[in-house]
Amino acid sequence: MTTYTPMMQQFLSIKAEYEDAFLFYRLGDFYELFFDDAIKASQILEITLTGRDAGAEERVPMCGVPHHSAQGYIETLVSKGYKVAICEQTEDPKQAKGVVKREVIQLITPGTLTEGKTIDGKSNHYIASAELLSENSFAFVYLDISTGEANSSIIEGGIKALLQQLQTYNIRELVVTEQLQILLAEQANQLGIVLSIEKEEMDDIQARPYVTNLPDALKGVAKCLLQYVERTQMRSLSHLQPFTYTESKQYLRIDSNSKRNLELLQSIRGGDQKGTLLWLLDETVTAMGGRKLKQWLHQPLASEDAINQRLNIVTDLLDEFFVRNELRDLLKSVYDLERLAGRVAFGNVGGRDLAQLRESLRQIPFIREQLVSSGKETLAALGRELDDCSEVEQLLSRAITDHPPISIKEGDVIRDGYDEKLDELRYASRNGKDWIASLEQKERELTGIKNLKIGYNRIFGYFIEITKSQLGNVDLSRYTRKQTLANAERFITEELKEKEAIILNAEEQSLALEYDLFVALREEIKAFIPRLQGLASAISELDVYISFAVVSEKYRFVRPTFHAGRALKIVNGRHPVVEKMLHKQTYVPNDCVLTEDKNMMLITGPNMSGKSTYMRQVALIVVLAQMGCYVPADEAELPITDQIFTRIGAADDLAAGQSTFMVEMLESQHAITNATERSLLLFDEIGRGTSTYDGMALAQSMMEYIHDRIGANTLFSTHYHELTSLESELSRLQNVHVSATEKDGRVVFLHKVKSGAADKSYGVHVAQLAEMPEAIIERAQILLEEFESTSRNQVTLVEDSSNSEQQLSLFEEEVVAESKSTVVVGEVEASAVENESESESESPALSEVELNVLQQLEKLNIMGTSPIQAMNILYELQQMLLSKK
Ligand code: ADP
Repeated sequence: MTTYTPMMQQFLSIKAEYEDAFLFYRLGDFYELFFDDAIKASQILEITLTGRDAGAEERVPMCGVPHHSAQGYIETLVSKGYKVAICEQTEDPKQAKGVVKREVIQLITPGTLTEGKTIDGKSNHYIASAELLSENSFAFVYLDISTGEANSSIIEGGIKALLQQLQTYNIRELVVTEQLQILLAEQANQLGIVLSIEKEEMDDIQARPYVTNLPDALKGVAKCLLQYVERTQMRSLSHLQPFTYTESKQYLRIDSNSKRNLELLQSIRGGDQKGTLLWLLDETVTAMGGRKLKQWLHQPLASEDAINQRLNIVTDLLDEFFVRNELRDLLKSVYDLERLAGRVAFGNVGGRDLAQLRESLRQIPFIREQLVSSGKETLAALGRELDDCSEVEQLLSRAITDHPPISIKEGDVIRDGYDEKLDELRYASRNGKDWIASLEQKERELTGIKNLKIGYNRIFGYFIEITKSQLGNVDLSRYTRKQTLANAERFITEELKEKEAIILNAEEQSLALEYDLFVALREEIKAFIPRLQGLASAISELDVYISFAVVSEKYRFVRPTFHAGRALKIVNGRHPVVEKMLHKQTYVPNDCVLTEDKNMMLITGPNMSGKSTYMRQVALIVVLAQMGCYVPADEAELPITDQIFTRIGAADDLAAGQSTFMVEMLESQHAITNATERSLLLFDEIGRGTSTYDGMALAQSMMEYIHDRIGANTLFSTHYHELTSLESELSRLQNVHVSATEKDGRVVFLHKVKSGAADKSYGVHVAQLAEMPEAIIERAQILLEEFESTSRNQVTLVEDSSNSEQQLSLFEEEVVAESKSTVVVGEVEASAVENESESESESPALSEVELNVLQQLEKLNIMGTSPIQAMNILYELQQMLLSKK
C-alpha cells in the first residue's frame, strides 16, 4: 500500500469531499493541483505539468498557478463549466506543528462566480433552482449573488418551458435534486448548463426572512438554493434580498421563443445584442440601469395604472430637457451600488470600492435636488423618496482617504484623524522618517562628504552609504560596517538602529491597525445594505426612465394611450430597429387598425415586401408601450395585452432534432392553446414548411379556430393568396397587402400596407433581385406563365365540375399528388388520388408515363430539395408528359 506524505494525505482527504471540483491547494505562494486535477487542468489552462515526491514510488502529477494571478485561471475553468474549490492555509505556517492546517474556504461554481471579466456589468448573473410541481409545471427560483436580488416564478409547459427559461435568463448553473438531474442531464449538457445536486434545505429559522413572500409550493426549492449557496460560499450572505414572487398575470407574458423571434434581447442570428430592441433602448449610463432595463424588457407590465405611472415620469423627463441632462450627467458618477453592497456583505470589498461607494453617494443629494426642484410633481416625488444614505457617506468621508489603493493591506486607506491610535503610530513613523532625513544632513556636514546618503532595504533596514573613494575622510570608529558593495560601504549606528526599530514597529502596527479598522468599518456598513439596495433600485429605475426619454426624443416616439377594450389603432407606426438600421433609405410608416369587430388581419404581399417587419412592429409597439416607454408612431391607442405569441421566421431547432415544420407546428400549438382574447398573435407564413395543400389547409383551419374560439388580436401573413377569400367567411377578418409595383420588369417594393389582398406573388422578381443567373430567371418566367395558365384551366374545371364551396385555387396538377391525405380541394383531383383503385375504375385510365410521373412525385423528398432542383425536376416531369403526346 502506498503511504503518502502527511501533506499529501491531507490533500487527499480534502479532495475526497470535493470530487466534482478542481482543488486549488495552497502551498506557499502557489495554488497546486495534484493527480487527475493536475493532468486535466494543465491541458485546459495550458500550464506545465510537473511531478512531486509524495511518499509513493512514482511522483504525483502536479501543476500550479501563482496565488496572486489565480483569478484568471479560476475564471477560465469556471467559465468552461467546472467548479473550483479554494483550499487555504488556515493557520500561520510559523506556528504550525506538523502539516499546516488547510480548509476549503469557497467553492466557486459557474453560477456563483461574482468577479472577473466574464461578469458583464449590465447583466445579471443568476444561479437557479427548479423542482417539479406537477407533470407540467416547475417551481423556479433564481438569485444573483453579486447583487443580492432573488426572484421566483412557476413555469408551466414542462421541461421545454423550463429549458427556455434557463436560456432566457442565461443561467449557467441549476441546482436540482438527483431525480431531476437524471431527467435534465442530456438537455442541460447540450445547453452548457451545469447541474449541481443539493440534498438539503436551509433550516426554517435561518431561511424565514428570505422566503416569507413565497407561496408554500416555492419555499422548498428556495431553501434548497439558499442551502447550496451558503454551503459553497461559506461566508456572509447578508445582502441577499427576500425572494420576490409575482404572479405571471401581472406581466405581459412573452414566451422565450417569441422574445427571440421579436429580437427583444438577442438577435435571431448570432444571438448578439446589435439589432435588438435592447440595443435601441439602452441609453442607460449605470450598470444597474442596464440590468433593470433588461428586467423590464423581460417583463413588461399588464396594469394600466402601473404603465401610466411610468409613462407620466417619462413625459415629465421629456418636458424637462435640462433636468434630464443634468441627472444623466450626475448618474454617470454613480457606480454599481448593488454590486458594491454585495461585496461589502461578501467581505471582498477593497479600499477603492469604498471610495467608489462614497463618490456615488455624494451624487445623491444633487440628484434629489434636481428632481425635487424640477417643477414636476412625479419627479419631485421620486426625489423625495430617494434615501441618500448620508450616514454611510459621512462615515466613508471621515474614514477613507481620497485615493485609496485597491489592496487593504498596504496602508493609505484610512484617513488621518479617523482613529487616535492610528494617528499616533503614523506620527511615530513619520517623525522617525523626518529624523532620518535630518540625520543625513547632519552626517554630511560632520564628514564633509556631499554624496553621503541614508538608504533603506528590506534586509538590512536603514544604513549610511559612503562611496569607497571617500572612505579615507571618515572617522570609521563611529560606524559599524554592515555591507560592502563594489564601490561603496554601508554602515549603521546605534542611534540609527534605535530609530529604525521605532519606525518599523510603528509601521507594522499601523498597517495591522488600519486593516482592523477597515474590517470594522465594513461591518458597520453592512448594517446599511438594505438601504443601499433600496437606493440602488431607485437609481436604476431613474436611469431607465431617462433612457426611455432619451430614446423617445431621439427617434420621435409618441406616448401611447390605453383603453379597456380590444381595439388597437396605430397611426404611422414604425419598426424602430429596422428604421435605425436603414441607412440611406427611409422607413415607410404604416397604420394598423384592429377594431372590436375586425381584429384579425390577413397580410399578403411579395416576399421581402415587409410583411414580417410590419407584424413585428405592431408587437414591438405593444411591448414598448407596456414597459412604460413611448412608441414609434404618430398615434397609438392600445388595449392592455396579456400575452404575445409569435410564429415567425424559420428559426430551426435543429440541435433539438426538430424540423422547421415541426417547430412551426409546436409554436403554433403553444400559441393556440394558451392565447386568450386579450392576447396578440403573430403568425408569419403559416404552413410554409409543408406541401402547398397541407399548408393552406392548416393555415385556414387555424385561422378559423382563432376566429371562432379565441378571438385574440391576430396578424396572419401568408403567400397563399387563396386564403384571402376567407374574408367573406370570417366576419372579423380583414385583408391587407403590402404593395409592390413592377417597373421595367423589376419589382419595386413600396413597403406600404394597404387594404385588400395582393394581386400576385413576386417570387421570380425577388430571385432576380438576388442576382440569380439570367437563364434561370427566364426559364422560371416561362414556367410561371405555364403554371398560371394551367392553374386557370384547373380552376375553371373545378368550378364547373363541382358545387363545392371550396375556394382554394389549384396551381398545378402535380402538387395534388402530395396532398393525398388531407385537403379537400377540387373534388375531381382529390378523389383521383385519394384512392388509387377507385380512381382507376372511375376516371379514364392513366397512361404508364402519367403513373410514372405521379409515382416519382410521391417519392420526392420535398424538404430535401432546393428550389432550383425542384424546378429542374418539375421540368423533367413535364417533359415526360409532353413527350407522351
Ligand atoms: P417579408 O416578410 O414580406 O418577406 P420583411 O418584413 O422581411 O419582408 O422585409 C424585408 C426587408 O424590407 C426588411 O429587411 C427591410 O429592410 C425592408 N422593409 C420592410 N418594411 C419596411 C418599411 N416599412 N420601410 C422600409 N423598409 C422596409
